[in-house]
This record gives sequence, C-alpha cells and structure tokens, in this order.
Amino acid sequence: MTDTIPSWERVRGMVPVSLCDWPGKITCVLFAGGCNLRCPTCHNASLAWKWTLLPSLDREVVLSDLRRRKRWLDGITLSGGEPTCLADLDGLLADLSSTGLPVKLDSNGSAPDVLERVLAAGLVQAVAVDVKGPWFMYPELTGQALAADAARDALEEVFGLARAYPGRVYFRCTKVPSLTPEDLETTQAQMPQGLPLLFQEFVHPRSDDDFS
Ligand code: SF4
Repeated sequence: MTDTIPSWERVRGMVPVSLCDWPGKITCVLFAGGCNLRCPTCHNASLAWKWTLLPSLDREVVLSDLRRRKRWLDGITLSGGEPTCLADLDGLLADLSSTGLPVKLDSNGSAPDVLERVLAAGLVQAVAVDVKGPWFMYPELTGQALAADAARDALEEVFGLARAYPGRVYFRCTKVPSLTPEDLETTQAQMPQGLPLLFQEFVHPRSDDDFS
C-alpha cells in the first residue's frame, strides 16, 4: 500500500527521547500514521488506522528541534504505523538525515523492495523488522492482511538484505498472547542461521495520549 499523501502529513507522533527503540542508542522517535496490516494486537492502533485524528507535526519545527538536541541524541527512529507505505519516504528520510543524525527505520517487513532502496541509498543506517510468528500464523497475526506465502517470501527477501548489509538489519518478534511457546520455537527455527531474532515482551496497546 503506497499512497499519495505527503510524508510529513503522516508524521503524527513523537517521543523526544527513547532509550529502548534502537538498542544501545538514545533516539528521538517519530511515528508515521497508516499501515497496510491489521494486527489484532497492534501496539499503535490509533496511529495505524485512525492517524488522521491525531495532530500533525510541523516539518520545520521537528527538524529544528532535532538539530537543537543533536548533541544529546545518538539517532532518530522512524516508526509507525508502517513507514514503507509513505508516498515520499525517501524525502522524509533525507530530511531527517539532514540533521546529521543516523536514522533507523522500523518496518513490518512486507515491502523488502522499499527497504532495499533506502539501505542502498544510504538513507537509513539501520532497519528493525518484525517477524510476527510462524509463517502459517501470519493471516491470523495480521488481521488477514498478509498470507503465509506472501509473508515468507517478503521476509526471505529481507533476510537476504540482512546478509547484504551485515549488522544493519535486525529482527524482532513480539510475544503477543496468541503465540504459544511452541509457536515461538517455530518462529526461531524459521530464521536463517546467523541472523539473530530478538524476542520482546508484549506491551498492551498505548492510547492516543502517549503521542506528543
Ligand atoms: S504492522 Fe505494526 S503498526 Fe501495522 S498493524 Fe501490525 S502492529 Fe500495528
């Protein structure tokens, strides 16, 4: 899903300082509204599906704030929603990179071509990709938005990117309530050798109020 709405119009949330969105780094996190999936356990449901109800952020104000705080930050995380759906993701990433801070992108992994493009262009220094569970569970885990075969094909392309860009693509799996311990083992087993998968605890969905 790619739309024609200017990317900055989709930037609907900001956490000024985060210690947990880019391991080992202090980052400012920006959230882009809209997502192509419909995960029933979505951590940012308002942002993913009702983003137009959230206040927009002004491009110049955000960039100026990032430049002012640059010395206290290690980077910027662009999360969502699903940023690869943005019409002008590259322009947004170029704006963020213009601050001089490294940029990390969060993605559900459904658009490996977009991830390859922004990695190749040097627009992001890191990409964090969700592996939501066993391939066969993808329809259930994504609200019927991504079929098992499509998920496996997309993620296998992303695994290829991880090999092509060592140390810049990493994978995480959120232990949502529907995943049993056996499902988590299956998820781990479908990872290629040498590509670590970080399991993270499920955090109950946040409310609109958490976005400034
Ligand atoms: S991919 Fe992420 S943002 Fe999109 S619906 Fe799933 S959990 Fe929510």
